[in-house]
Amino acid sequence: MYPVMLDVRRRRCLVVGGGGIALRKAQGLIEEEALVTVVAPEPVAPLARLADEGRLRLERRRYEPGEAAGYALVFAATDDRSVNRTVFTDADRVGVWANVADDPELCSFHLPGRVRRGPLQIAIASGGEAPFAVRRLRQALDRRFGPEWAEWLAAAARFRDRVRELGRPPAEQEAVFDRFFDATVDLEAWRARVPTAAEEAGWLGAPVDHLDRSGEAGNGAVEGWPDRGDRRGFVSLVGAGPGCPGLLTIRGRQRLLEAEAVVYDRLAAPALPCELEPAVELHPVGKEAGLHPMPQEEINALLVRLARRGLRVVRLKGGDPYVFGRGGEEAEVLEGAGIAFEVVPGVTSGVAAMAWAGIPVTHRREAVRLTLLTAHEAVKSDGPQVRWDLLAQDEHATIVGYMGVTALPEVVRRLLEAGMSPATPAAMVERGTTAGQKKVVSTLAELVAAVAEAGLAPPALFVISPTVRHATALDWFARLPLAGERLVVPGSAGPLIRRLEEAGAEVVPLPLPMTPAARVVLNAAPVTGCVVAGPDEVDWLDGERGGPGWAGEPLSWCLGTSAAERARQRGWQRVRELAGGIGCDELVAGIASSRR
Ligand code: SAH
Repeated sequence: MYPVMLDVRRRRCLVVGGGGIALRKAQGLIEEEALVTVVAPEPVAPLARLADEGRLRLERRRYEPGEAAGYALVFAATDDRSVNRTVFTDADRVGVWANVADDPELCSFHLPGRVRRGPLQIAIASGGEAPFAVRRLRQALDRRFGPEWAEWLAAAARFRDRVRELGRPPAEQEAVFDRFFDATVDLEAWRARVPTAAEEAGWLGAPVDHLDRSGEAGNGAVEGWPDRGDRRGFVSLVGAGPGCPGLLTIRGRQRLLEAEAVVYDRLAAPALPCELEPAVELHPVGKEAGLHPMPQEEINALLVRLARRGLRVVRLKGGDPYVFGRGGEEAEVLEGAGIAFEVVPGVTSGVAAMAWAGIPVTHRREAVRLTLLTAHEAVKSDGPQVRWDLLAQDEHATIVGYMGVTALPEVVRRLLEAGMSPATPAAMVERGTTAGQKKVVSTLAELVAAVAEAGLAPPALFVISPTVRHATALDWFARLPLAGERLVVPGSAGPLIRRLEEAGAEVVPLPLPMTPAARVVLNAAPVTGCVVAGPDEVDWLDGERGGPGWAGEPLSWCLGTSAAERARQRGWQRVRELAGGIGCDELVAGIASSRR
């Protein structure tokens, strides 16, 4: 078998068959901009949709002998082996490469398993001999390579162009490339990071004989990861998103994985990657049970101190750092102290929580302006005031209020006084985008009473807008079968985790061995259940069950009898046993049905 990467852009490719496998082949080809023709008498709906969208040509009929000629690549995935064979022989006769799904004998090429991070692709093949092995390896690599590799490769490509522009001799170019690679890739942990502009400038500018070529010098080691030697501290102000861990940005996650110290708020804790190395310093600075939050001046001083030690610091803040997060003040302090910093924006809760609650913050003809305000400061008498009188006049607008639980009665009073209609739709959302999300939909006049009755508490946002009327019809999140579940899954069962998340659950993937960051995430909110696949996972999880996240005695989903027996032995309450070989869909259905 001879591996190649084919450029199929604008090449004609044929897919014979109209089922799920044919669909996947067609999608893969479309992604690479091939010109795809699908021949199938009864195609599945998504194929028809792709045809309607003009992304492929669909011919609803049977394959006609001889047709395969004239294509660059041919795939057959029908359930009729004789059709598949005809397709293959037709193609083979005229020298066209052909692949019949699940039939290695009728293949002149195989498709490798692949892991893809932007332009970076890793392909794995077994010559068709052991697809299961390829599948498992692919999964393992998929877990190993974080999303940061896409950005890293893009940075490497840009760097290559810059190096080439300098027109240095090839050996010198290679030395500069080595410098980039050695400083940005940790081959032990398979991590990569994008270098700073200053680092790149240094590598490009430094005379080549000063470049350490560690590989050739024979010492082999990448000096201290990340390289602390010639670097001053650096602070990334990173937005953690609104609470759902998946709403952290790719860059934010990448910065966290590179960090040597993380200073985090309570609301930002769920976004910490569970696999953060134990060596990373974790500094909680938000309000935690019984403790007062660290005063802002102390947080500022901590950031400066950590950076002066030469560390890569992430200041992780809920939502977006510059939206009511005092990120501006922290940036000013860093700037004043001469410390390099950057801002990685986050998804602000005022927009995301509304999306999860079925409320579009703007909507054509209904709301054409969006005001984000802090209700808390706005009702104090000493600071700059919100012009409630102006807001009250604007019918086609959305007002989203942060920190608004205690100030809500005052806000409503002022808006009504200024003439806003009492019937204006209004809502409040607590812990939006998380498993603990609650919402109350009402009107301006009645919101205060409705919120009190439902017992909503901070963190919560209010929204006053004509678009609140969509909150029931567009309530996609509440309709997900596992909305409201916060499930702990030990190990790294990638596909299972994704499936649970798709079904609406918040998943805490606990790494083995356990890390301090995972413990923070685990205990950041109440756990509703855990999924364990064997007695060893039970044993391992047992040690973690004492923390505040476990207070509510979660349901334990045990896959297989031996796991369930061990859980009962260990005194776990509420053990539910499911068959060991159960599929993801059945597991989701099982958990969902236990809620009714
Ligand atoms: N920088 C943050 C806001 C910090 S102020 C952001 O961009 O989202 C803290 C306030 O944000 C809370 O009092 C609450 O009003 C709001 N908030 C943050 N996360 C929230 C969530 N998941 N659901 C509802 N409100 C949230």
